[in-house]
Amino acid sequence: TLDLLEMVRVIADHAAIAIANAQMYERMQRMATTDGLTGLNNHRYFQGIFDASIDRAERFGRKISLLLTDIDHFKTINDTYGHPVGDRVLKKVARILEENARKTDVVARYGGEEFAVLMEETDSEGAVQIAERIREAIGKHPFHCENGLFNCTISIGVATYPNDAAGKAKIIDAADQALYKAKFQGRNQTVLYAMMKEQKKS
Ligand code: GH3
Ligand code: MG
Ligand code: MG
Repeated sequence: TLDLLEMVRVIADHAAIAIANAQMYERMQRMATTDGLTGLNNHRYFQGIFDASIDRAERFGRKISLLLTDIDHFKTINDTYGHPVGDRVLKKVARILEENARKTDVVARYGGEEFAVLMEETDSEGAVQIAERIREAIGKHPFHCENGLFNCTISIGVATYPNDAAGKAKIIDAADQALYKAKFQGRNQTVLYAMMKEQKKS
């Protein structure tokens, strides 16, 4: 028969294993949902959040705005200062995005040097305000390299559900078109999909 001490030991062992499993689960969960470099939500996880967000917005008749951002001439930053400096720029841009977005906004690394910000209950006007705040904060941040300081800018496309389109894929496409226009017009600017459409008509 087990004496008391032996029983305590067995229970403690089981507890230790349970804790280790929980920690491992948490680590795997984090690896599956976040981007390794920036710690932001990864593309796949973001898509799921966006799906759920659209469902809620549809049900409750609310708006969602999406910002798609892309760093300007990032290839040149890599080529000029080196890939590790480029990585540091990505990390810092991620932090500035988080600092300037609101608590309820969801920030994600959407692609290599592309980021997305999902804003529930936010119309185009509100979204442009945050977009401009983000764009200005990044534009004025002094980035460091061996030879001193340099600046970096981003372009932003904005689209709003349900005004600009009725579903997730089409909203992403609309924001992407606005982003493309921001690049085409000279970069370091925010373009609203709705405004872009209006210009086309007139
Ligand atoms: P544009 O203003 O038109 O956006 O020009 P760009 O140079 O930013 O655009 P392009 O798409 O040609 O370049 C994106 C670059 O981003 C190319 C790629 O090597 C770099 N990149 C993508 N992911 C990473 C990363 O994780 N780290 C670093 N350092 N660079 C990355
Ligand atoms: Mg790009
Ligand atoms: Mg770019």
